[in-house]
Amino acid sequence: SLQKPFHPAADTDYAAVEAREQSQQAFQQVRQLFGKTYLPLVNGEYVSTEEIIDSVNPSNFSEVVGKVGLLSVEQAEQAMQAAKAAFPGWKNTPAKQRASILRKAGDLMELRRAELSAWIVLEVGKPVKEADAEVSEAIDFCRYYAAEMERLDAGYNYDVAGETNRYLYQPRGIAVVISPWNFPLAIATGMTVAALVAGNCTLLKPAETSSVIAAKLTEILVEAGFPKGVYQFVPGKGSKVGAHLVNHPDTHLIAFTGSREVGCRIYAEAAKVQSGQKHLKRVIAEMGGKNGMIVDESADLDQAVVGVVQSAFGYSGQKCSAASRVIVLDSVYDTFIHRLVEATRSLNIGATELPSTQVGPVIDGNAQARIREYIEQGRQEAKVAVEISAPDNGYFVNPTIFTEVPPTATIAQEEIFGPVVAVIRVKNFEEAIAVANGTDYALTGGLYSRTPSHIQMAQEQFEVGNLYINRTITGAIVARQPFGGFKMSGVGSKAGGPDYLLQFLEPRTVTENV
Ligand code: NAD
Repeated sequence: SLQKPFHPAADTDYAAVEAREQSQQAFQQVRQLFGKTYLPLVNGEYVSTEEIIDSVNPSNFSEVVGKVGLLSVEQAEQAMQAAKAAFPGWKNTPAKQRASILRKAGDLMELRRAELSAWIVLEVGKPVKEADAEVSEAIDFCRYYAAEMERLDAGYNYDVAGETNRYLYQPRGIAVVISPWNFPLAIATGMTVAALVAGNCTLLKPAETSSVIAAKLTEILVEAGFPKGVYQFVPGKGSKVGAHLVNHPDTHLIAFTGSREVGCRIYAEAAKVQSGQKHLKRVIAEMGGKNGMIVDESADLDQAVVGVVQSAFGYSGQKCSAASRVIVLDSVYDTFIHRLVEATRSLNIGATELPSTQVGPVIDGNAQARIREYIEQGRQEAKVAVEISAPDNGYFVNPTIFTEVPPTATIAQEEIFGPVVAVIRVKNFEEAIAVANGTDYALTGGLYSRTPSHIQMAQEQFEVGNLYINRTITGAIVARQPFGGFKMSGVGSKAGGPDYLLQFLEPRTVTENV
């Protein structure tokens, strides 16, 4: 293609002394701000709220990272009216100008990189290197979608003699973005800036447990120059404020990332035409996964062990792309399990602020209880190969590997979203593919193999949105591995890919007889 290559932002090199010092300073600065209150942004003003919740550090829940004002439904309604009022002006703002605000936001994130990583580490318990990579992803979304909007803004020209035919894109209107806590900066940024650069007035409703980071994103978007009413920060309860905005007759588009349960519900609710509504809503819903990695008899087991451990236990398994099923061929099963267990035993578990920590806590008490229930369920369904004890002053769960798991077991079918792995034994490669495809989800998948026919068969038959061969299955990079799934993993085209912005735009054809 004629497009210029996209250069992703570089992650911090923590091997460098200055980088480590800068990171430590950032942690100190951020801790000094602990306990501050963050308010919603409605029509350019930070507004007081009746309800205020604490957001705590999952590694040590006696620490209140920040207090967050939750919007009432009436205040959410004011935000909706402000968005409607701001829309004509934003729609007529040239795409180039909108794109330049995104680039400014990306540059501001780059300047605040160490600080933003520290907020991610402390509010959602992500290990610091992974938090830093998340900041890179957020920056990439700003820069990539800016370039994408400029590309699309040129439209298409289908002129013939005596007739001009122009194909142009316009914004859809009001976009509601509903984001999850597990990539509190990158995913909230990606959906929000995509909606904004396409010319939509956008309301961001973050997950309750990651609202402080969303407030930091808000500071950046305001400083970058999004006008009042164009971008608004509407923290609130999903079931109240989220549902109100989803059902609102003036909402044109909903960009959701989160659980299957909530995504399916939003999809259904958005389909109902409300009184006064003059359009059908567009829904983008990126949901869960039950991602499998196949290890065959020709695999490089050194690579496979490291890749599975990182994919399964990175961020305590709380990535939609995380490995939660490992499908191993009989001939290498025992050797592989032995080595996988040894590698898992050597993981450092603890507070995520420490650079040596590889596995931190899970997000909150509900998640901890839910994951522990799955572990109990697993004890009924399979064998425990290893269970490692984790600290008890935060929301930790013991990293656990189950073996001899039947492919239809609950722990092999339901998304657990924690540090729990189900290993399934298969006789041959055909069975491995069938087991891999035997879930409702199709998000990521992986294969470790040195057999060309197996690699080819996986490329053709492994039903996932992102297939990774001989590497980890997490850590997609914008514009390099556009990301997203199908089946019950969601509807919508891939984030960080060439079709993503189209979902936020309405194409029009204008024909003139000349
Ligand atoms: P969640 O579904 O519980 O919450 C997501 C958002 O929806 C939150 O902002 C929440 O407040 C809001 N919400 C809840 N109920 C609502 C309602 N009735 N109406 C409107 N909004 C409502 O998900 P989570 O726990 O924040 O995130 C974890 C899930 O997200 C996992 O299932 C994971 O696989 C998925 N995920 C998917 C991707 C992807 O790209 N496919 C990426 C990250 C996370």
